[in-house]
Amino acid sequence: WENKTGRNLTRSSPLFKNLAAKVHRFNFLALSHRLFGDTCPLVSLSCFQTPQRIPYDEAVQQEFRPAAVGDAFGPTWWTCWFKVELSIPREWAGKEVHLLWDSDGEAMVWRDSQPVQGRGTGSVAPLLPFCSRFCSLNLYMEVACNGLFGAGKGTMIAPPDPDKKFTLNKVELVVFNRDVHELLVDFEILLDMAKHLGEKNQRSFQALYTANQMVNLCDVTDPSTFPAAHQLASAFFSQRNGESQHTIHAMGHCHIDSAWLWPYEESIRKCARSWVTVVRLMEKNPGFTFTCSQAQQLEWVRNWYPGLYAQIQDFARKGQFIPVGGTWVEMDGNLPNGESMVRQFLQGQRFFQEQFGKLCTEFWLPDTFGYSAQLPQLMRGCGIWRFLTQKLSWSLVNTFPHHTFFWEGIDGSSVLAHFPPGDSYGMQGFVEEMLKTVNNNKDKGRVNHSVALFGFGDGGGGPTQKMLDRMKRMKDVDGLPRVQMSTPDQFFSVLERDGSQLYTWIGELFLELHNGTYTTQAQIKKSNRECERILHDVEVLSSLALAQKSAFPYPATKLQRLWRLLLLNQFHDVLPGTCIQLVAEDAMTYYEGEWRTLTESTVIMNTLPWERTEVISRTRPTGADTLALVKVCSMGYSVVKDSLTPPHPVRVVKQLDGSITMENGVIAAHLDSMGHVTSLHLVSSGRCVILFFEPVECGIFCPLDDLQRLCVLKTFRKPVTTLVKPLEIILPGGLRGSVRFSLQISEKSIITQEVILDAMCPYLRFLTQVEWNEAHKFLKVEFPVQARSMNATYEIQFGHLQRPTHWNTSWDWARFEVWSHKWMDLSEHGFGVALLNDSKYGASVHGNTMSLSLLRAPKSPDTTADMGHHQFTYAVMPHLGSFQEAGVIRYAYCLNFPLHTMPADSVQCPAWSAFCVSSPAVVLETVKQAEDRPGVLVARLYESHGSTVVTWLQTCLPVKEAITCDLLEQADPTGHLPLKELGVELSFTPFQVISVLLVLG
Ligand SMILES: [Zn+2]
Repeated sequence: WENKTGRNLTRSSPLFKNLAAKVHRFNFLALSHRLFGDTCPLVSLSCFQTPQRIPYDEAVQQEFRPAAVGDAFGPTWWTCWFKVELSIPREWAGKEVHLLWDSDGEAMVWRDSQPVQGRGTGSVAPLLPFCSRFCSLNLYMEVACNGLFGAGKGTMIAPPDPDKKFTLNKVELVVFNRDVHELLVDFEILLDMAKHLGEKNQRSFQALYTANQMVNLCDVTDPSTFPAAHQLASAFFSQRNGESQHTIHAMGHCHIDSAWLWPYEESIRKCARSWVTVVRLMEKNPGFTFTCSQAQQLEWVRNWYPGLYAQIQDFARKGQFIPVGGTWVEMDGNLPNGESMVRQFLQGQRFFQEQFGKLCTEFWLPDTFGYSAQLPQLMRGCGIWRFLTQKLSWSLVNTFPHHTFFWEGIDGSSVLAHFPPGDSYGMQGFVEEMLKTVNNNKDKGRVNHSVALFGFGDGGGGPTQKMLDRMKRMKDVDGLPRVQMSTPDQFFSVLERDGSQLYTWIGELFLELHNGTYTTQAQIKKSNRECERILHDVEVLSSLALAQKSAFPYPATKLQRLWRLLLLNQFHDVLPGTCIQLVAEDAMTYYEGEWRTLTESTVIMNTLPWERTEVISRTRPTGADTLALVKVCSMGYSVVKDSLTPPHPVRVVKQLDGSITMENGVIAAHLDSMGHVTSLHLVSSGRCVILFFEPVECGIFCPLDDLQRLCVLKTFRKPVTTLVKPLEIILPGGLRGSVRFSLQISEKSIITQEVILDAMCPYLRFLTQVEWNEAHKFLKVEFPVQARSMNATYEIQFGHLQRPTHWNTSWDWARFEVWSHKWMDLSEHGFGVALLNDSKYGASVHGNTMSLSLLRAPKSPDTTADMGHHQFTYAVMPHLGSFQEAGVIRYAYCLNFPLHTMPADSVQCPAWSAFCVSSPAVVLETVKQAEDRPGVLVARLYESHGSTVVTWLQTCLPVKEAITCDLLEQADPTGHLPLKELGVELSFTPFQVISVLLVLG
């Protein structure tokens, strides 16, 4: 019946046993064989192959050689262009004609230099009719040597097989019998209702009885009997529901991963193939609506397929093609920093406004690995108050208790959230899916509406005519939920009207699966952190240069290009590291090049908004590096001639047993000859912090090929204890002391650490080099510390949150590993320990053991993931008081944003500070030029302690006007701030983000 999904009529239920006998008499196979009528061969077929993805104009200039059905082409990632000449027989006039094309790889049909139809892979599938009258035409088929899901060897997420060959299995012209198609859909719906409504349901019997009657009426060999059979079905489908029935808002969708099991370049073609199909469907189905997210993908199609893009814009104006989401790409929901999250929306919303004349009102992120508790505030700040996803249904341990609810972030902002209860963003319009949507909906007593997204996804593909035909029949059929074509706005508007009884969920939406995404592809993650820093610093420095000299050419265009590259790489299969090797390589090239030149040519100084006293390394004119202790102004510079003298120099002393003590008057550490920190003390209080520390290798339990499913089993934990180079002193002390050692992780992998202690610095820094050549291994570092608390604190975007340190409930246990940004902290009253890092995201605190995830070695879908050399830094910082009072947040910034050094002759005065903030709770995160407004700066600040504070933003820049604005930089109508001697006064609630437009005079 439906060969593709293996559905057949053999049912074991008594219902079918009793009533299905007659239906079985009907030869369904015979009917489906009559879907296509007469056939006709092509006039000619020729092809040429290329390893590149080239434009149409270039392709058609090439030399094509004759080709035939049965020919093989490839290998993987090549493109085979076919030239197809065909002539439709005169006697077919008025009939619906299809071209059957089965060639394994995804394909695009071109006609008259325009893309006209895309098609996926799999069994023989008809193209929609492109010509129904007598004619001859030439087409080109651009066939990619990859399937919808790339070219995995064996299983889908296995690494690609580079030598895969593709075959042209079938090409012919056929007459398509629309009446047979309609009957087949009728039967499918009726039989599915009979099956899935259940034996006790009266409609189930009625559906089967109707199907039975149709069989009696219908003679497969006589098409004149078909209308009467179809009429019976129509009569059944026109029996309406009562008023109380649930309404399903169906929306066409096509999830296209911007890169995953295929490279970025292929995604561009996937977008075109999918959306041209959507446009064809819209021409035939005026009510068909399609939701499309990711500005980047629309930008790709705009650049590469302008003709198609113009058609998309037409249908967007008609309200059928609906841009959604508001972001540049569907990004990872955990790892991008606060400013990156803002820019996802800023770049996305600006694009949608410019190209489609509207801002999106909903955030659309069906598929990612968890959602930060700061997102509601960021959405709100970007004109968005609605949210759609479904990925939480993938959680391994706990079932999320809602499908429609208010989601409240750490600052108290809330948005209306909906998870399509069918637990899918790629439905096909089956009865079973619609029933699941209602039955599974946990909030159906409170609101009587759900969303169903239909259309093949992940690798693209999108909706088909058959899906639409199914749902047309389910519009309002007694016994089934009402299935109506809808839009996100129609759906959410109904919820807003009826949603007063909805529950509120506070805090993060944590996905209990794929924790490995916090660690895998460490170089991508490190480059992400590094590029976030570079963009931060360049924007700050360029803004300050602009404020000092209005003729300064703020590099707005270049910055936009680099931001968009960074945002693209934050896509939910790239930054999380779930992509193939080709994508990882592409991503790394996006992090290279211009970034470096950008930093070298800028002024160098302190880009953080507080005064810093730190040891820096300077290069003398002689070329030698020397250390200096320097004090630098808040977001500004200081000219340094001589090093300051620290109140307490660093002392590094080797003991007789080969162990070493390091001490700087703030903290004191003792390391044994293996490099283990065997004790760490706070000098002022004598408080012992650590008794024992070791780098730890944990084996992982990884069920088969599952991508990131990860259960760390304690029994697999195996400390690294094989010494290669014993502990030795590198720097003897004074301004900086350091020691170094190397350990063998395995025969193939070595870890070398330089443990560094600077004068006046409250943390011990571990500069780590790893040669990593493992398989299915996980490297973590553990710090068993002397602090006890039920909760540990982790940094997230523009704030932090607590997670339990115990496994009381399944919700606690399921968070055995979590994500964090620059710092995490375990504090009891009056004392605590923070763990800082410069590029890691995976973390956990269980009991009193704090661990940081360093490296993984998964082999799918990239066998080479994380193999080779790595360098990263983490640091342990014990403190008195709370982490807020101890300045943990600031020190984590300092570790991530080192001071820049530059020749002193390029500055005029000895010290200059552009900005400072009076409250230590408030961080001035970003200073940049406003979009499209030279001479206007944006300063973005947030409250970082979780407190209500009033603070002054002080500046020496020539500011003549200050106005608060939203995250899209639209001025708040009542946001004029008085300019006072101390600057501008700002009031914050916990974790509030405030942006201020500063108009320069
Ligand atoms: Zn995806």
